[in-house]
Amino acid sequence: MLGVNASAVTNYTSSVDPTTVEMPDIPQTTSLDTATQCQYYQSKFVVKQDEWPTIWGIATSNGMNTSQEFQNLYNSIDWSKVPNVPIRTIGANGGLDLVGYDTTNDPYCWWSATQCVTPKTEGINPDIRNCPEPETWGLTFDDGPNCSHNAFYDYLEENKQRASMFYVGSNVMNWPYGALRGLKDGHHLASHTWSHKMMTTLTNQEVLAELYYTSKAIKFVTGVTPLYWRPALGDLDDRVRWIATQLNMTAMLWNLDTNDWAAGSTPGVTVDTVNQKYESYIQMGTNGTFATSGNIVLTHEINNMTMDFFVKHYPEIKKAYKHVVDAATCMNITHPYVESTITFPTFDQSVNQNASTATGSGVVPGASGTTSTNAGASVRSLLNGPLFIAALFGLLALV
Ligand SMILES: [Zn+2]
Repeated sequence: MLGVNASAVTNYTSSVDPTTVEMPDIPQTTSLDTATQCQYYQSKFVVKQDEWPTIWGIATSNGMNTSQEFQNLYNSIDWSKVPNVPIRTIGANGGLDLVGYDTTNDPYCWWSATQCVTPKTEGINPDIRNCPEPETWGLTFDDGPNCSHNAFYDYLEENKQRASMFYVGSNVMNWPYGALRGLKDGHHLASHTWSHKMMTTLTNQEVLAELYYTSKAIKFVTGVTPLYWRPALGDLDDRVRWIATQLNMTAMLWNLDTNDWAAGSTPGVTVDTVNQKYESYIQMGTNGTFATSGNIVLTHEINNMTMDFFVKHYPEIKKAYKHVVDAATCMNITHPYVESTITFPTFDQSVNQNASTATGSGVVPGASGTTSTNAGASVRSLLNGPLFIAALFGLLALV
């Protein structure tokens, strides 16, 4: 699982003990009103600006490419071994320029071109693409933490449902308590890069910085350092994978894509077409498609529309599939972080409802009471079924 040659010099620090997380009781962490949740707040985390890239800038920005910290990291890696793969370009249409790439031989295992997940070069962590467990839905949400996710996370908590959350470093720094909530609720936290760029279009330094500073942000805020990550739009090749491997990181992709983020903003993708995708993936749970293995489904925390798609379909998903679990659990990954103090249940332990005894970490997925001490608890208990859906649609109207 881990890179054999990973020995990079990293400098992740945190004042948070991930086994004893306390959520601050402020309107942004308790309200279900979008505007209130998304009001800027000064968190308890003291950010020294000269130690971080510009929010939403490339992760080498703000002098990070020349900082001592990053130089130490960069120089600790033996770059003579990095696969010699051309840096890709963005075409005139704003997408990756795939022209001329040899998709038949796929020499660099470029996922954007061929959905290749098995590296062509030795010593590189292969990607994870789907859950091996039969009739199992691997639940993943990208692009969080979203500032208006309180109702959504409450819903997951009420259903004792854990997911893999691929957080963008810039969002973590903007909404640190949103990330902290994810950790406290027992979700599997993973990296989704600092600025959500197409990774194969970046230089080695930029790829390294995008991964490093996202892990640094997640560690800073939650106390855990992710070992798993997902590139924006799945764009990675053996060069990008090799760099991630130096940080002991493994990519988690997907084999089913809901396209939820694109509804209404991309030609041909509407609310109806996303609903149809959900429906067809749900049917796969009972028509034999996943009789011998499971899926990993790409969905998004990006806004209330995407979160609502999931909430709307979740009861059907639960009916159609035997198991709905986060991607770490379905892969039997019991240590998804560098820190050994957090232990996830095995798949068997999880589906046999033994999760609470298996974690031993204080982070119990979906356990009652994990956030029930804050002011929003009484409100949340009223929000179930149709009323909850109505509340979400109410939020949608404000966006
Ligand atoms: Zn994304």
